[in-house]
Amino acid sequence: MPAGAFMELLVMKHLKMVSGYRKFSYVTDVGGIMNAVGEMRGLGFPKQPLLNKIPGTPSGNADLNEEWFVRTITEKVASHPDNSLEYPFFGERIFDEPLVGFVSGDDPLLEDYKRIIGPHHFTPEEIMAWQARNNDVAPPPAPELSVVSFVLPISGTTKKENAGKTDWASERWAQTRLNGEIFSQTMVREIVSYLMGRGVLAVAPDVAPMFNKKRYPRVGWASPWSHRHMAYAAGLGTFGMHNLLITPKGCAHRVGSFVVNLKLRPIGKRPDDIHAYCLQYQGMECLKCMKRCPVNAITREHAHDKEICYKRTARSTVYCNKNYHIFIYGCGLCSTGVPCESGIPQKILSGAQHGKPGT
Ligand code: SF4
Ligand code: SF4
Repeated sequence: MPAGAFMELLVMKHLKMVSGYRKFSYVTDVGGIMNAVGEMRGLGFPKQPLLNKIPGTPSGNADLNEEWFVRTITEKVASHPDNSLEYPFFGERIFDEPLVGFVSGDDPLLEDYKRIIGPHHFTPEEIMAWQARNNDVAPPPAPELSVVSFVLPISGTTKKENAGKTDWASERWAQTRLNGEIFSQTMVREIVSYLMGRGVLAVAPDVAPMFNKKRYPRVGWASPWSHRHMAYAAGLGTFGMHNLLITPKGCAHRVGSFVVNLKLRPIGKRPDDIHAYCLQYQGMECLKCMKRCPVNAITREHAHDKEICYKRTARSTVYCNKNYHIFIYGCGLCSTGVPCESGIPQKILSGAQHGKPGT
């Protein structure tokens, strides 16, 4: 590891408090500030790993199959030291056992996302072409690519704590929003680095420099790579009134995804109805998420309003800094204390006609 990166790691570890709250988190929570700059501006991420151009490696990569990805991600979530909260919950796990799924790079839905989400949204082929250029190799065609998508369910203690809140996110939830995201990016970086070392092009779109969340014309606040839409494409869940993904492990989670130059088969069938697991959309009165929202960002008529939600969560930065001493925003009230919090609602499962979602 280069000396600069080592020093950076030392500072980060030091600032990840283990014995007390950090002071003046607006300037001292380096991890939180860097995370926000990365999310909004696509800056400050560690350098991309370089491709190891070993002749003949593709045939030697037969072990890098679906089972390898499920096992690797599951093991990292179970044992990675960064999957843990900080003071005063030091050592508590952030995430439980994940769900993992795959989408082929030439799945027509991924091209459709340019129409559904907006023309700014990357296809796997576009983002991989950038990584190929970085390494001076030919860009692989879409059929040679796959998206690996994963869902990290938030721990029961954190969900229970947030379900007890009615105004702002709980402390564990806020830490999960920050440390959980950092863990997720670290885990993906480790996997991407490993694959590149094995001669397999791989890239995490949300830590590439062209990633930035901003207001797009006619779309509103959006990012050029939607992990949630990748998870839907991979058959891991469907959208609810709150616009979160309802999965077999619920909607209280973080999702992540990355692109690999490998052919991986999708697991399970994706429901055609993008709202298949939401009670309200399926004609069963619910709207519990609407009642949980403190600013009426969810309505019966229009479902989730991104702008109202964004304004509220942006304001929570002040609350989180003042009360929890970390630089983050978050809310999650609509994903806790609701029937879809920890699984597909029972009423849907008992009447379900849908294919069972992936592993
Ligand atoms: S709380 Fe009810 S209405 Fe809201 S997303 Fe969940 S199932 Fe749908
Ligand atoms: S995350 Fe957004 S929609 Fe959900 S409760 Fe908070 S402000 Fe409302």
